[in-house]
Amino acid sequence: MKKVWHNLMVDAPSHRYPIYIGSGIFADFALLKAHIGKKVAIVTNDVVAPLYLDTLQNALRDNGVAAFAIVLPDGEQHKNHASLNAIYDGLLRHHADRKTTIIALGGGVVGDMAGFAAATYQRGIPFVQVPTTLLSQVDSSVGGKTAINHPLGKNMIGAFYQPQAVFADLDTLDTLPERELSAGMAEVIKYALLGDSDFLRWLEANMAALMGRNQAFLAQAVLHCCRMKAAIVAQDETEQGMRALLNLGHTFGHAIEAEMGYGNWLHGEAVAAGCVLACLLSERLGSLKTKDTARVRAIMRQAKLPDAPPVFAFERWLAHMRHDKKVESGMMRFVTLSALGRAVLTPLDDVRILRDALQPFIL
Ligand code: NAD
Ligand code: MG
Repeated sequence: MKKVWHNLMVDAPSHRYPIYIGSGIFADFALLKAHIGKKVAIVTNDVVAPLYLDTLQNALRDNGVAAFAIVLPDGEQHKNHASLNAIYDGLLRHHADRKTTIIALGGGVVGDMAGFAAATYQRGIPFVQVPTTLLSQVDSSVGGKTAINHPLGKNMIGAFYQPQAVFADLDTLDTLPERELSAGMAEVIKYALLGDSDFLRWLEANMAALMGRNQAFLAQAVLHCCRMKAAIVAQDETEQGMRALLNLGHTFGHAIEAEMGYGNWLHGEAVAAGCVLACLLSERLGSLKTKDTARVRAIMRQAKLPDAPPVFAFERWLAHMRHDKKVESGMMRFVTLSALGRAVLTPLDDVRILRDALQPFIL
């Protein structure tokens, strides 16, 4: 049995819970058992199930926990009402009650859907996150945002609902396609840009080891990001203020994803380009230097991520960005940087500044 390397607590106002970061967590059953009931529903998808479902299900059964699996089709396009219903069907068919624990085994798509099912089934049952992508380990599994997509908008139906615990097993990252590793790295870099210039220097120095999946380095990165997210969530669980800073690069990123068609650009890839655009906007606002933006573009390339967005019409950029959840009373708000490592929420009523920043990427 391998040991767990790190743990930290998330002190969300609604619920306090641990994050465990390590390897071999599936084998260390005592830890998992402390956070689940006698009956477990494992929610996963048809890509992750062949890789990890048996190990988890056997560990549960060997320890006297009744476990059944709900295997959903893989992909963001299935983060919808049909999949949510499939989870409810599985829960009802297996007579899940209020003490049944849902274990979300997979990336952010599985975690968001399983979390929302847990929030709503019989008005709320406990759930545990076992994130298996870098993105979900550093971001989506922590903080209690759960959701499904609506045909008219991504993540439009959801709830704030915190898990009982998060188990980030770095072993699972070994099977992750490289493009997905890079996409997760975009969110890692985002944390550095929004709040920690020392972490940015650390990432610049160690990106080769991280992309080479060196576990000790990945553990440091996941731990650091989870600490940052936990600190923010503790202060602003439901995004009334500073939690919005986690959306650095996301207003532009969502526009790229929507314009290019979801799935063609991975979320993380769009966020990478979005962070570069946030830098260019910050330059226009006079708070960042050209050499800062060059540094950001360089680290994106180091992580095999795009360092520039695709080109399309300004009207399209605007149309997508006006749908952003940060729009308040019609006013667009952007997360900009007052320095590398310091993010601020900036209302913007003059679209000319935006047009200037986006100029090279306007058709
Ligand atoms: P994902 O869940 O689609 O996973 C990416 C791909 O990797 C999928 O094909 C998946 O099946 C596969 N996969 C997962 N684990 C694997 C493994 N260990 N080995 C091999 N393949 C594996 O995508 P994601 O990037 O993890 O998450 C994106 C989703 O997360 C989006 O829906 C986004 O809205 C959501 N999200 C939520 C929050 C939040 O706070 N709740 C934050 C960020 C993102
Ligand atoms: Mg994101």
